[in-house]
Amino acid sequence: MDVRELTFKGSNEVQLYACGKCGRVHSPGIFACRSDLAHAEAQRFAGECCKPKVCVCGVELPVNAGYTACEKCREKNRVQKAQNIAPDDYNGSVYPDSNSGDWGEGYFSELSIVKEHCHGHDEIEPAYVFTCHEQPLRLDAENILENATSDMHEDAHEEVVDADEVHKFVKQWNSKQTCRSFYPNWTQVIILDKARFDALLNADRSEAA
Ligand SMILES: [Zn+2]
Ligand SMILES: [Zn+2]
Repeated sequence: MDVRELTFKGSNEVQLYACGKCGRVHSPGIFACRSDLAHAEAQRFAGECCKPKVCVCGVELPVNAGYTACEKCREKNRVQKAQNIAPDDYNGSVYPDSNSGDWGEGYFSELSIVKEHCHGHDEIEPAYVFTCHEQPLRLDAENILENATSDMHEDAHEEVVDADEVHKFVKQWNSKQTCRSFYPNWTQVIILDKARFDALLNADRSEAA
């Protein structure tokens, strides 16, 4: 992209670099390195300022995207890296990322109801789903004691009497809790429709080629 060199009045020495498109100025002064390298960096930043970022598949990314692959390719990479789990080997909630789910926000309480739920809600059945991590409600006894003493004098934490009792109580209390949150486990995928799953991956691959 077009880079404009800026000088100070009365001098021919280049001081700053501006993006030729949006005019944003990039200064070598912000780089903590040798002057010539700092100038090269500022020049490079100005050149890339408004340059569209492109995914390996050729899809253009938003100018300020904090990622280097498009949504489709990120999903493809995720799925390809994930371990395949047989539907019969999994018993728990699942996340397809493409459906409403009986728990809402894409979560299904179990695999066996995916089909029925999708039919009932006029949704296309997902070709695959991710398994879920379960996070139960837990207190951390050590954290509680550390928090309680953190604003006190330096040795306060070492002066706690019978910390073991707190640990024992919290452990017992934790074991009674039934509240759980679920998160997608991106490392495990369950394929529900092999033909559609393969087609999705292959479609992406031919685009990338
Ligand atoms: Zn720009
Ligand atoms: Zn892509």
